[in-house]
Amino acid sequence: MKICRFDNGRLGVVEGDTVRDVTSVLEALPPLRWPVPIGDQFIANLDKLLPAMREAAKTAKSIPLKSIKLDAPVANPPRVIAAPVNYLLHAKEAHDPAIHHGVHMPTFEGFATPIDKMGLFLKSQTGLIGAGQKVELHWPDRRNDHEIELTLIIGKGGKNISRDKALDHVAGYAIGLDMVVRGTEDRSWRKSADTYSVLGPWLVTSDEIPDPDALEFGIEVDGEVRQRANTKDLVVDVRDLIVRASAIYSLYPGDIIMTGTPEGVSEVKSGNVMHCWIEKIGEMNVAVK
Ligand code: MN
Repeated sequence: MKICRFDNGRLGVVEGDTVRDVTSVLEALPPLRWPVPIGDQFIANLDKLLPAMREAAKTAKSIPLKSIKLDAPVANPPRVIAAPVNYLLHAKEAHDPAIHHGVHMPTFEGFATPIDKMGLFLKSQTGLIGAGQKVELHWPDRRNDHEIELTLIIGKGGKNISRDKALDHVAGYAIGLDMVVRGTEDRSWRKSADTYSVLGPWLVTSDEIPDPDALEFGIEVDGEVRQRANTKDLVVDVRDLIVRASAIYSLYPGDIIMTGTPEGVSEVKSGNVMHCWIEKIGEMNVAVK
């Protein structure tokens, strides 16, 4: 099922180029009182809500996709966890001083897996937007790059999750844009500005993507191909990212994991439109303000 959030808090099931408004099923969510549990309440209850959503979609009002404004498919993600240098060709291009600025030196000698050296990193969840919003450049005079990444949304939380159980913890998948300004500052500063994480166009439930490590994807900026890759070339695959993240961080419903970007990262400017697509998920156009 393709599940979207749209028009400031409505819930939809995507069918082709239309959306069925199933917001009414949210009435079944248990009321929350402070202190609320960590995580996204809708994602935490997704399995229970799915039958009602399926039923409601049969008769719900059908709205053309092009007439709605897509919000990020996760309303309250506790975190955005992200993988650095997780495609070897991107690791190679990261030797460009315009990318590493003499500070973030990509020296992986002795490391077949760059993440063994670099670990994972966090982006602030408050920087997250949906496909219906625009990326707003916070350093307009510097190099701001797009990084398209297969992105997963954790459903069932856990600590020390094993490889064979890892995919059972995934609620679904979406397209992620890990936007960044190149420079000397810490990653969490350069990648957490408001609007510097894009998630969309919707969440595709994990049953529709049995093998996340074999998906074609790409991004074009104003029609020009910038990145084109396949998740089969992930150095640390989706299962292993969940193993590694959950060994250190307890995972919670709604945690977002960006799996890393392939080669071809490049600059965007105000007025550009990024066309992003991933096989079996969909496509989205994200404008740069
Ligand atoms: Mn990235």
